[in-house]
Amino acid sequence: MPNEMADEALAISREIEEQLKFYREIGLEDIGHSGRAVELAATDHPESLSPGIPTCEVQSAFQAVPAATQDRYKEANPQKSPQMEEAGLFGENIGTGRPAGSRLRGTTIPVIDSRDPSLEAIRADIGDCRRCKLCEHRTNIVFGEGNPQAKLVFVGEGPGADEDATGRPFVGRAGQLLDKIIEAMGMKRNEVYIANIVKCRPPGNRAPERDEVDTCEPFLWRQLAFIRPEVIVALGSPAFQCLARTKESITRARGQWRDWNGIKIMPTFHPAFLLRSPDKKREVWEDMKKVRDYLSALTG
Ligand code: URA
Repeated sequence: MPNEMADEALAISREIEEQLKFYREIGLEDIGHSGRAVELAATDHPESLSPGIPTCEVQSAFQAVPAATQDRYKEANPQKSPQMEEAGLFGENIGTGRPAGSRLRGTTIPVIDSRDPSLEAIRADIGDCRRCKLCEHRTNIVFGEGNPQAKLVFVGEGPGADEDATGRPFVGRAGQLLDKIIEAMGMKRNEVYIANIVKCRPPGNRAPERDEVDTCEPFLWRQLAFIRPEVIVALGSPAFQCLARTKESITRARGQWRDWNGIKIMPTFHPAFLLRSPDKKREVWEDMKKVRDYLSALTG
């Protein structure tokens, strides 16, 4: 291997090891050890770059290293490029008026098994988090709330002003609409669990940035892996694209079942979008009926 490529490989190997260290620091010791890791993860083997680290950990870590690093790996190793779909995290941001993101994210769905003893343990690991720049402006960390044994979890994008002020997810106008949706499904808010992709409010309600999502989402994975609901409702494009590792738009995907680690995902429009486009409520209701019917079929 020419010297340049060897250096590149070494640098990438170090980044992967750093990523693994970060996962361990946040308590994620158990990434990707199931058979699905192999099924979902890269078809080639970046582990050859990182002797001493188990294959599955390296594959999962590789999925989580920054896209630029993955690109460099692919450039440096055209024959070995992992077969990962390029996917945009915030490519389409329905109705928010924000510009469409241009960054692409090459990754597959992370495989997580929970050994967390409780949601409180995950919250404790977050602590007074200063892992990303969102900490600079937040008032409260919005961890998520609800039934730890919920069959249904709603995932939004990130806290807004009301959530930041109270430390609770979906308590503003969009949250009140979400409450109505939950009630219309015949459930109560305290029966379900509600969380977000990022736990601190992005200033001015801007979209969370890539590094902020990368830093925060493993905590959501742990929450989801601990709760193991039957269904995750992804509210809006960012939540859907992030969980499903896709750049598909919510407009196309809504109403169609997807998968996250064997848990069904139902993508639908965000309640904040519904406040601006009430004519879309009918579509959300169609999606929520599918969820309701699926859940009631499970319980008989
Ligand atoms: N919008 C979100 O995506 N999450 C909240 O918690 C509130 C508004």
